[in-house]
Amino acid sequence: MPKYKLEYIWLDGYEPVPNLRGKTTIKEFDTFPTLEQLPMWGFDGSSTRQAEGHSSDCFLKPVAIYPDPTKKNGALVMCEVMMPDGKTPHPSNGRATIPDDPGTWFGFEQEYFLYQDGVPLGFPPGGGFPPPQGKYYTAVGYENVGSIAREIVDTHLELCLDAGINHEGINSEVAKGQWEFQIFGKGSKTAADQVWMARYLLIRLCEKYEVTVNFHCKPLGKDVDWNGSGFHTNFSTKHMREVGGKKYFEKLMAAFDKYKNEHIAVYGPDNHLRLTGLHETQSIDKFNYGIANRGASVRVPHSFVNNGYKGYLEDRRPNSQGDPYKIAGRVLQTIATVPLK
Ligand code: ADP
Ligand code: MN
Ligand code: MN
Ligand code: MN
Repeated sequence: MPKYKLEYIWLDGYEPVPNLRGKTTIKEFDTFPTLEQLPMWGFDGSSTRQAEGHSSDCFLKPVAIYPDPTKKNGALVMCEVMMPDGKTPHPSNGRATIPDDPGTWFGFEQEYFLYQDGVPLGFPPGGGFPPPQGKYYTAVGYENVGSIAREIVDTHLELCLDAGINHEGINSEVAKGQWEFQIFGKGSKTAADQVWMARYLLIRLCEKYEVTVNFHCKPLGKDVDWNGSGFHTNFSTKHMREVGGKKYFEKLMAAFDKYKNEHIAVYGPDNHLRLTGLHETQSIDKFNYGIANRGASVRVPHSFVNNGYKGYLEDRRPNSQGDPYKIAGRVLQTIATVPLK
């Protein structure tokens, strides 16, 4: 029987931003294992801020499996962290808070910076700045994107697709050294699982380039004219796609307004540095929506209005360090407060 290398991956207990953790176990299977065939596993929670020293075991419950394209018979296993009883979700387990709904679709746009020697790729190593923003977005050319970023983002794309992750696209972003990829999934948890795995693959890939992925939403600070990083969250429920209507839409937006603070609380730390009203953002303490408006909290695509207020909406407030599990959970919690009729 072939031996499979199973890399169990989970989120640790660091706050406000969890880190990805992973460890590998070797098991024999006839063919590539299914989720049901994978055993639970344990780890030392006292080393990940998930337990005290004296009773420190936590459990890993496999929830998604992807082939690891970098290894022969390798698998990447996304896990939820459970309490020692194996049944109760650990407090750090955001995924367990997402209601199961196959009719909900999420599309996440992950922006991030590639960093080397403490500065974004392409910034002068000793300090100072490259030419101002303007030509970096969707750019080509060494002077705009440098020499290794392209290889990293293209390799990352291949790894994701080979792993069965529904990577939907790439673009270089407005700031030098800044990039974006998009992940789309049907089902309330699918895209969120895949974003975490795509982040894992990107961070791991960058190790050999001596590059780090900086997910902070405003790594260069708010006082300079360099864009921050978002995690635009596009969402639709079956009702939004198939029934919709202006009345339902307005009730939905009223609920988003009502719960704006609860949303911001899980939309990633330091968002006040990014949601300033500048650089295609709304300010953090306001909620608004607008048709095709990139300065709004929620952008309503033209297609949504043209189809009789049916389709998906884009919440532009989540930032690049946001946890897609917590974001998806909050969006669905707010939607659940809105009556369908
Ligand atoms: P932009 O940069 O203009 O905001 P992108 O193309 O980067 O747009 O991202 C749009 C996202 O919307 C993609 O991730 C896509 O998968 C997602 N999306 C498209 N249709 C739906 C839908 N019906 N439900 C949820 N997300 C959707
Ligand atoms: Mn985009
Ligand atoms: Mn973008
Ligand atoms: Mn967007």
